[in-house]
Amino acid sequence: MLKVSHLTKKYGKLAACDDVDFALDDGSVTVLLGPNGAGKSTVMKSIIGFLRYEGEITVGTWPNKTPQARRLLGYVPELPSLYPNLTVSEHMEFLSRAYRMENYKPRMEELFTRFELQDKRRKFGDELSKGMQQKLNICLGLLPDPQVLLLDEPMIGLDPHAIKELKNIMEEMRQQGKTLLVSTHIIDSVDMLWDRTIIMQNGVVRCNITRQELEEDGRTLEQLFFDVTEGLGEGAEA
Ligand code: ADP
Repeated sequence: MLKVSHLTKKYGKLAACDDVDFALDDGSVTVLLGPNGAGKSTVMKSIIGFLRYEGEITVGTWPNKTPQARRLLGYVPELPSLYPNLTVSEHMEFLSRAYRMENYKPRMEELFTRFELQDKRRKFGDELSKGMQQKLNICLGLLPDPQVLLLDEPMIGLDPHAIKELKNIMEEMRQQGKTLLVSTHIIDSVDMLWDRTIIMQNGVVRCNITRQELEEDGRTLEQLFFDVTEGLGEGAEA
């Protein structure tokens, strides 16, 4: 469903990502792991169409910046960008209009319940705690129920209930045939449900491995991560 081919993004002489290639299946969760500065956010922002880059990215058969692809793509950015003078509910309404959703309210209510935001709906963006801002950020990404969802460090700042809820939702989306790409630098936060792990370091993909391949390999994800990123050997085909 999502294909990234020869993706390179340079900032001056620095290649934030360098010839990155991968393809993600329908109905799968992929974890994008890597130390700080590895290039994970750059890959996400390129896929969603926020950056100019070299290479090709397609969603289904559509290039990622076409309207057809944009309708299929959803994104939870690393940092919530909320409007200080819109309420929680108004943020959701604003997004529903951007996506031309006819009847967004039932889904909004479901998300508010699952993320315990029901009694915060009239609060303004700048009245929310960091954790609540992140919950709203996630609800905004989930509202259009996209076919392909990118989540950039989504667990940061969430309380245990919200983490559990987010993991449940990711599992439900996988079962519905959706494609999820979740970036993180905290290995423990992805102890669940992943089908494929891509490890990046210094802008390049160092390892691209399925859960089954890792099980056959015998290492834990943490062992593999340190072996790959601390130079003790290759993980699998990159
Ligand atoms: P990660 O998400 O894995 O922490 P990023 O994709 O944010 O990594 O960053 C990859 C590299 O690109 C880092 O060295 C970072 O400093 C650099 N970088 C990211 N954004 C910019 C920018 N706007 N201008 C210059 N360098 C950038």
